[in-house]
Amino acid sequence: MLSNAVEEFPEHQIVLLGIGHTNAYVLAQWRKNPIPNARLICISDHSKATYSGMLPAVLAGQKPINAMEIDLVELCAAADATLLIDDVVGLDREKRELQLTDHPPIVFDVLSIGIGSVPETTELDTQQDHVVTIKPMQTFLQRLHRSLHREECETGSPLRIVIIGGGAAGVEICCCLPGFIDGQNINTPYQLTLVNRGEQILAGSSRSVRSRVNRTLRKKGVEIILNRAIKQINSESVIFDGGERLEADLVILATGATAPPLLKELGLPLSEKGFLLTDATLQSVSSAPIFAVGDTGTIQGEETPKAGVYAVRQAPILWENIQRLIKDQPLRTYHPQHSFLRLLNTGDGSAIGEWFGFSMEGKWVLSLKDRIDTAFVKKYQIPPLPQNRRASS
Ligand SMILES: Cc1cc2nc3c(=O)[nH]c(=O)nc-3n(C[C@H](O)[C@H](O)[C@H](O)COP(=O)(O)OP(=O)(O)OC[C@H]3O[C@@H](n4cnc5c(N)ncnc54)[C@H](O)[C@@H]3O)c2cc1C
Repeated sequence: MLSNAVEEFPEHQIVLLGIGHTNAYVLAQWRKNPIPNARLICISDHSKATYSGMLPAVLAGQKPINAMEIDLVELCAAADATLLIDDVVGLDREKRELQLTDHPPIVFDVLSIGIGSVPETTELDTQQDHVVTIKPMQTFLQRLHRSLHREECETGSPLRIVIIGGGAAGVEICCCLPGFIDGQNINTPYQLTLVNRGEQILAGSSRSVRSRVNRTLRKKGVEIILNRAIKQINSESVIFDGGERLEADLVILATGATAPPLLKELGLPLSEKGFLLTDATLQSVSSAPIFAVGDTGTIQGEETPKAGVYAVRQAPILWENIQRLIKDQPLRTYHPQHSFLRLLNTGDGSAIGEWFGFSMEGKWVLSLKDRIDTAFVKKYQIPPLPQNRRASS
């Protein structure tokens, strides 16, 4: 009798907003060892989460699409957590309440916000049919597929594809897109152009990695335009800040990570770039019982890049700090690592890597990347449940 009452009215309500690299870990830990007398509610804008590290392999046709997907319906059902597929429209800090579009407000004792980041678009019109943004990643391949087929029908001549953004994402997309196009039965020839605002691609990488990547892109016939910013996209071209035009049938936006617009609606302190400002415990500097993790959070005084490896390393700290916050214990501090292993899939059965300034390349590098990525996703993929046990959303 008592245990039923406790289950129905648990003392603590823990809410995860966005189930990305960090919050997914909490969900997986909950499945193994739930926090007593507490309920877990997950809010996501999609019923699946995607693992970005695996996207290039899927794009290149090396892996099936489900290799990069985490089914949140299955994972939440297995963890006995509630999943709400909805959009958050506001936060009431006093009432500790999240306002949603299609559900009543959700009260929380602890909230962790990890909704990632979005590509920088500044004033670019991303609503046009031939512009494909990398986010939401869950629908990137379907949108790309649709746009490619439409442009092939409408254009009839060689397709001019412009990829904006010379960071790791833009480079991997350039390298792996030919595999995707081959798999789509598109027979029209195409030209890939990579446009980067900075003086060099992969600005944070070593010179030797950059020269390996430049060599690979040249071998693939990719045209590289450096030091130029695109200010406008119209139906047939991209327009540079100097006014020159470059014809483009398809534009892929893989620009740097910026803050999702929702963050400024939450009324929490923000970093200069609009991300949620936290202290080293990942808790919002507002002192509300709110954590901000992965790309969504910026630790005051830290300049760490927005990369999945940081989000992954934060996960055990977040899991512990959620429990400490409930017990009113001091929180643990997260120390970001200074460097990390960067691995870029070159789409041709090989990869380029960087480790503390040293570069490497070859099939074995891709096989290392594949082992790391597969092991990560497997932790969150569980065999599907019978239809009658699927969670409601
Ligand atoms: C092509 C590509 C390749 C990359 N490769 C690497 C790599 O190899 N290594 C690396 O370290 N980094 C890589 N990155 C960067 C990496 O993807 C991010 O740093 C990482 O995803 C951040 O994790 P996160 O949990 O903060 O966000 P995400 O993984 O983006 O997760 C956020 C989740 O929140 C959901 N969400 C978004 N908005 C809302 C909302 N309003 N309400 C509810 N849910 C919402 C999203 O659907 C998503 O499931 C890559 C990025 C790209 C684009």
